[in-house]
Amino acid sequence: MAGGQYQVAPPGRGPSLCSLTDGSDVGPEEGDPDDGPHSNPLKRLTSCMRTDEKVMKELIIGRRVGFYKVRGEIGCGSFSRVKLAFHALTKDKVALKILDKTRMDVQAQRQLAREIANTERLQHPNVVRLYEVVETPCRLYLVLEYAGGGDLHTRICDRGKMAADCCKVAFAQILFAIKYLHNNMIIHRDLKAENVLFTARGCVKVADFGFSTRVPGVDRALDTFCGSPPYAAPELFRDESYLGPPVDVWALGVLLFFMATGTMPFRADTLGKLRRCVLDGAYAVPPWVPGPCQRLIKGMLRPLPEDRHAVDQMLGCDWLLPVEFPWPLLGPVPPGWTDREEEEEVEEEVRAGLEELGFTREHVGTQQGPPQNSRSPVTGAYRILLHRTQRRRGCETVPVVRGMVQDPRREGLKAYRGLRHSSKLCVVS
Ligand code: ATP
Ligand code: MG
Repeated sequence: MAGGQYQVAPPGRGPSLCSLTDGSDVGPEEGDPDDGPHSNPLKRLTSCMRTDEKVMKELIIGRRVGFYKVRGEIGCGSFSRVKLAFHALTKDKVALKILDKTRMDVQAQRQLAREIANTERLQHPNVVRLYEVVETPCRLYLVLEYAGGGDLHTRICDRGKMAADCCKVAFAQILFAIKYLHNNMIIHRDLKAENVLFTARGCVKVADFGFSTRVPGVDRALDTFCGSPPYAAPELFRDESYLGPPVDVWALGVLLFFMATGTMPFRADTLGKLRRCVLDGAYAVPPWVPGPCQRLIKGMLRPLPEDRHAVDQMLGCDWLLPVEFPWPLLGPVPPGWTDREEEEEVEEEVRAGLEELGFTREHVGTQQGPPQNSRSPVTGAYRILLHRTQRRRGCETVPVVRGMVQDPRREGLKAYRGLRHSSKLCVVS
């Protein structure tokens, strides 16, 4: 059953805040009229999950997972299916990445544990967030932030290469995300267009941390071949140990080539031939690609890892110079989130929102700071509300290119919605 009999108990009353149980102590306390099953949304929901036949059936057939109502498929990867879902209480859209536990060997389980640990450690406007993990006997569900604007690969396949300014704005955000990852000692190792998503408002989201790894230092040598061959650096094909950051930088070079030209730099019909192409460095940037962009691509696709550009160096390059971020790039996260006062305000707002839904102070925990247990529905609701609040305060404002003409349709939409902060331009052509 996909999260049936979801128990929400305060800390200290049971082994965890959320567990799949026989449902015996879900819902109101007996004999306490104020705690009746209809007194708040949370109680109504948990009561339905125990007693409403339709809801119980939906849980059994996977139309509901925990507190989420599941809709159609939105993506598919080598290891998972991804579906759209809604939080039954907050009504926010989320992406459910569904993994079949019965088909996972020890290696895959280890990777998944890393994917969860690394994704939940990150909080950045250009990195997909993990809200919650729901586990059933056969499946694992990663509840992720929903990026409703599709993935970069599909966009380029459908519409061809990106217009110059849109390409700049999107690539700058990808770089910003990778800088943040590397500052946090996380190497992505599977950067490719399929793993770069857009929100409906054009904010870029780097996704899929299935091959990511956390290193004690950026000079730590790694030895597992990961990722997708067309994006793999020469040192990976040489079967050598390798350093993490330059491998991500090479993949960024392939990605920028693809964004700017609509074609891949290294193409071959067999893996052996592809390997040869990459080892020979056999690629050519079309002459019509602007010089500063060409130089950036070539700086990332240098054969020797030590010669490749560093991420910091690239953010200040000629080609990206006109991109204006709404916050300085020096801090690890947008400045609002390092400001203690603002953080406290946000936390207050989120806790008030949770209380309105029926989560008590006991559920959330009385200590300052966010709940940490990803397998708890309290954490899921907390992170969703936190993200919503941060978005409302402008944390996902899309950068602009100085002097770029804004898309009048988006401007109209912005005025109509009366948004306090919104993306200022159309990111893709
Ligand atoms: P692979 O290893 O083959 O890249 P995977 O099994 O690890 O794939 P993901 O890459 O995480 O799975 O997801 C597969 C696809 O599902 C993505 O390419 C994207 O189209 C869609 N998808 C994934 N996460 C989200 C999300 N948060 N929002 C919207 N769509 C998503
Ligand atoms: Mg993927």
